[in-house]
Amino acid sequence: MTAQRMLISAALLMCAALPARAASRPVADSTVQPSVKIMPTPDGVGLVKLSDEEWKKLLKADAYSILRKKGTEFAFSGKYWKNHTKGVYRCAGCGLELYTSDTKFESGTGWPSFWQPIAANHVRVATDNTLGMERDEVQCARCGGHLGHVFNDGPAPTHLRYCMNSAAMQFVPAK
Ligand SMILES: [Zn+2]
Repeated sequence: MTAQRMLISAALLMCAALPARAASRPVADSTVQPSVKIMPTPDGVGLVKLSDEEWKKLLKADAYSILRKKGTEFAFSGKYWKNHTKGVYRCAGCGLELYTSDTKFESGTGWPSFWQPIAANHVRVATDNTLGMERDEVQCARCGGHLGHVFNDGPAPTHLRYCMNSAAMQFVPAK
């Protein structure tokens, strides 16, 4: 092996050892909104920060009203509550993977319901005191978009029910 080849091999080995490459999920995975700039974060989730004006331009009206204004679509009106295709549900704002079809279940509510997110750090839960009740709001961990709420009446093994809005997500069928 020549000295030059050895140098190249060493450089490749070093690249492979970089922590960023070892992150579980790639950060630049926004197939939903390709123009959204994702700032890398150490946990691999990434961060998206846009102004309200920018979100308004980028999102469809129904997605904007839910993700950015904490709206709720009518039950049985969304495109995913009865979707039974295998695949992954991503945030319609920033493309972060949120749920897989494997944890989706029939809740009878008319909203797409899951018993677990795809990764614990892909969603975050906040307290929502609107409508005169205390509920746990579910937000996208990357863009902060409002996705829905989580309740304690779901099926085993978690007994959680992540009650989502279809318009806040984009479904990507499995290949
Ligand atoms: Zn998002």
